[in-house]
Amino acid sequence: TLRACVQRLLVRRAASPILGARAIHVTAEELRQAIALRQFVPYFQPRLRGADGSLTAVEALIRWQHPQRGLIPPGAFIPLADSAGLIDGITGLVLEMSLAWARRWHEAGVAPSISVNLTETALKNAHLPNELLALADEYGIPPARILLEVTESDAITEAPAALETLARLRLMEFGLSIDDFGTGVATPDQLAAVPFTEAKIDQSLVTGVSDQPQYVGVLAQTLRQARDLGLKTVAEGVESKADWELLNELGCDEMQGFYVARPMPGEEIEGWALGWHRQPL
Ligand code: C2E
Ligand code: MG
Ligand code: MG
Ligand code: MG
Repeated sequence: TLRACVQRLLVRRAASPILGARAIHVTAEELRQAIALRQFVPYFQPRLRGADGSLTAVEALIRWQHPQRGLIPPGAFIPLADSAGLIDGITGLVLEMSLAWARRWHEAGVAPSISVNLTETALKNAHLPNELLALADEYGIPPARILLEVTESDAITEAPAALETLARLRLMEFGLSIDDFGTGVATPDQLAAVPFTEAKIDQSLVTGVSDQPQYVGVLAQTLRQARDLGLKTVAEGVESKADWELLNELGCDEMQGFYVARPMPGEEIEGWALGWHRQPL
């Protein structure tokens, strides 16, 4: 089928940073200690509206600040956190640190929405919606300015607890993103079962697409699928001006990637946001 063929192409193309990350070995016990010691730091990556280049949101991407080994990427410990029952601890830290940063930027007059990644396991925590609402209230960030990203493969969960969490979060007016959209695992019916607000097109469909005419059709079709589901479209992995321009022509609403900015520590966001307009896109 076309779908299977696209799938094979994507698997071949995806130079996954996660695969590299998995080669870093960490144990559940080390991770448990790191959570207790709060050895994590969120980096933030801006995303921009295609039409006018304005800053719309920043995505929190967690790193483990290991005292000996330096910064460890999330691909090396999020799957372990999920399987070892440690994800709630990490999610709690990421949410708290991210909203605290968002509060500081908002006070400085820089007010992007903030997006945070959640796994299916994190969604099974029935306390998550109320805890998140309490945090939003504590830091004075309206829920509509907080976006929660769930990968396409985690989004098609059949776990009633996870589905209920998603529905409750949406009722509280949090935004819900399908992350890594277009990687082929979900049917439109499965996706329509959850009230998502936007789709983040997977970087394997995006990076370098302007150099490879044979992939433009797949990208265009994926954007169309997202729009048919009533979703805002966001591209991740935009690494060049040519990719940016092509996505703009295809009507993608927002863009994120190294061409715009790399993920950066919270201290740098304010200066970046105030200064970046001087650089032409
Ligand atoms: P994701 O949510 O799809 O995040 C995008 C990943 O692509 C990030 O890697 C980001 O640094 C990288 N990236 C951004 N722009 C570009 C680009 O232009 N080119 C390329 N090649 N890469 C780009 P990172 O930070 O290593 O995160 C990897 C994944 O780990 C994330 O994928 C997300 O699924 C997961 N993750 C990150 N932080 C958290 C977290 O706090 N909680 C959970 N549950 N998962 C997280
Ligand atoms: Mg994400
Ligand atoms: Mg993504
Ligand atoms: Mg991705």
